Amino acid sequence: MTIDNGLLQDIRAAVAGRREETIAFLADIVAQPSLLGHEAGVQDRVEAEYRSLGLAIDRFEPDLEQIRVLPGYSPAVLDSYAGRENVVGLHAPREAKGRSLILNGHIDVVPTGPENLWTTPPFEPSIRDGRMYGRGAGDMKSGIAAYCAALHALRSLGLQPAAPVVLQSVIEEECTGNGALACLARGYKADAAVIPEPFDQSLMVGQLGVMWLTVRITGKPAHVLDTSAGINAIEAAYGLFDALRGLEAEWNEPAQRHALFRDHAHPVNFNLGRIEGGDWTSSVPCTARVDIRVGFYPGMALAAVKAALEGRIDEAVRSRRELRGARVEIEYRGFQAEGCVLATDTPLMTTLSAAHQRIAGAPIRQLASTATTDARFFALYGGIPATCYGAVGGGYHGIDEWVSLDSMMQVAEVLALFIADWCGLEAR
Ligand SMILES: [Zn+2]
Repeated sequence: MTIDNGLLQDIRAAVAGRREETIAFLADIVAQPSLLGHEAGVQDRVEAEYRSLGLAIDRFEPDLEQIRVLPGYSPAVLDSYAGRENVVGLHAPREAKGRSLILNGHIDVVPTGPENLWTTPPFEPSIRDGRMYGRGAGDMKSGIAAYCAALHALRSLGLQPAAPVVLQSVIEEECTGNGALACLARGYKADAAVIPEPFDQSLMVGQLGVMWLTVRITGKPAHVLDTSAGINAIEAAYGLFDALRGLEAEWNEPAQRHALFRDHAHPVNFNLGRIEGGDWTSSVPCTARVDIRVGFYPGMALAAVKAALEGRIDEAVRSRRELRGARVEIEYRGFQAEGCVLATDTPLMTTLSAAHQRIAGAPIRQLASTATTDARFFALYGGIPATCYGAVGGGYHGIDEWVSLDSMMQVAEVLALFIADWCGLEAR
């Protein structure tokens, strides 16, 4: 539907009128330390917010037996999904005239790192200079606050979407995506899906694939009076990762790149994220375990990525001094996430871009993400056009994570206008 300027101004004023409540809601959910395995507290608060929007609630644990056989599944990081629920809020219109919509966001956050490096504690949200600081403030509790604000604003005008709208608050975006996959498996579909990840109000047009692998290395223990009698598993781990760095460099070569990432400084990133090993300062360490994250381009099959990694590791075991005689075992656990390209000429992309242009007064920028997001489930396995569009922020996965509150509220305006246009409106 066409949104005339009068309605546009009403929507903008209604969103602005929700500023205080939206920031308070964001503070409530940032204060919940929703690290992996600790999702229930924040989901209680999100559920209450969904209820205040008059939505029907579906709260459920991912069904491991159901999802483990589906494309897109990543081997679970924790042993169980017991008590670890997704929350879905359902809006049913009086009369479905427009296009249906999924608004998705994840509530899981990554570890804080050393808390003493934070200016204020990571789970005590703090507002300074128009920014809210806290783990998850940007990535991506701000997105959940923004889409709730958009629907609240329409309600305050006596309006509601004239199409089904599904709000999803999911777990495990940061390690498997199995929360979003479980929503898809439960049958939630729509004509489009938007995820307000904090991507500086740009429109996501594609994303890299991400794979996690755990490598266990067994060396040979020895007394340090003759270290050459042993095989140092920790030094072997460094040798192994150094060999993978060679593959990373190759994939970043201009000729090897996917077109979407042609102009990016360094799209493919390999990360040695965790290491443990050894047990005594004066003994050559016998065991080491390293957890590695690997990025790769859309269109590369998971099997091909594994083959490339394993080929490089095998070669290192054969040829590198540090690895000679070491036993190497590889386990794929966590992200086994394919990359994807999101078509830009779809009604979703043009409608959302137009909403941004009208609110922000400037054309939307496009972003090819070098990280993965849950958009892949909708786009690759659900047949649902999807993208990410969310607030300006920074410090994600680092120290002093923040989100711009003005930007979050502008995203709420854009989403409200987009909903009005995409779904149509009816009187409450
Ligand atoms: Zn995120």
